[in-house]
Amino acid sequence: MQKGVTNSQIESVKQRIKELGFDYQLNSGEELTVIAVLGKETGSCDTQVFEVLPGVEKVFRIEKAFKLASRDFQQKDTILKIGDVEIGGKNVVIMAGPCSVESEEQILACAEIAKQKGAKILRGGAFKPRTSPFGFQGLKEDGLKILAKAKERTGLLIITEAMSIEDVAVVADYADIIQVGTRNMQNYPLLTAVGKSHKPVLLKRGFAATLEEWLMAADWILREDNSSVILCERGIRTFSNCTRFTLDVGVVPVVKRFSHLPIIIDPSHAAGYFGYVPVLAKAGVAAGADGLIVEIHPDPKKALSDGAQSLTFSDFSRLMEELKAIASAIGRSI
Ligand code: PEP
Ligand code: MN
Repeated sequence: MQKGVTNSQIESVKQRIKELGFDYQLNSGEELTVIAVLGKETGSCDTQVFEVLPGVEKVFRIEKAFKLASRDFQQKDTILKIGDVEIGGKNVVIMAGPCSVESEEQILACAEIAKQKGAKILRGGAFKPRTSPFGFQGLKEDGLKILAKAKERTGLLIITEAMSIEDVAVVADYADIIQVGTRNMQNYPLLTAVGKSHKPVLLKRGFAATLEEWLMAADWILREDNSSVILCERGIRTFSNCTRFTLDVGVVPVVKRFSHLPIIIDPSHAAGYFGYVPVLAKAGVAAGADGLIVEIHPDPKKALSDGAQSLTFSDFSRLMEELKAIASAIGRSI
């Protein structure tokens, strides 16, 4: 409370705390009065409801704003088991495939090389969010059918994006993991819908989101009784424009400290250019990420989306060998 706070101001804060269903603890010192708000769900209470009250100097959050995603809530790492793939355990899981599903030949070729080189999951967007709304928006359900065919052929699991609530049901029919893109991290109705689908969800970090905001978004999925959330750092927007986004590789150990959820790295959307992708991928594994999601294309020059950041099959093959060495150096495997 402010210096010189009056008793009636203190009383009205106490009253507001009670109205909101919390308890309080009053600490009156020589100079300052501090009121602690106590209760189970303080994380869901906006600090602004107290900031506006007369006599209040400052409101600090002591308890984290996210709960279900936090290490306090669950000490041991979440290890997701999807088919026979484990994410968050000792293995570093590689997801690879094109940005967009373009054709059956393209997907089958990607699936073949991905499988051969040790990837476990095939990526490919059928519903595409784009930097420009005028870009290619995906093959929709026809694209999902192509992914299903590739799964049947290779046994790879499928990850693909749902962009809106209306897409969730059809995407859930085909996908093993539903991807929520960076532009949708705070689309709470979509998060509720993917949560309710009870499919594993890959939650990309919003490119302007803090760690706290990201983990609150994860909480929003987890609260639908869906414990299968994987976080994905894909680069954030900073003053640096030398890569498409700035890969916040340092977030990996911080996530590991504060959350039990697995985290993977997307080096492709961070880099924006194929030449930078392998370095960011290797940095991600070295930093302790539980996996990578990498864009590859049989002929990047002809890609309908993100060709510049897509690896050719030979670059991808070389990268996979290097990644195996890095994983083994830190006691993990691919
Ligand atoms: C993607 O992975 O295809 C994609 C669009 O990524 P992001 O949401 O991170 O831009
Ligand atoms: Mn892409």
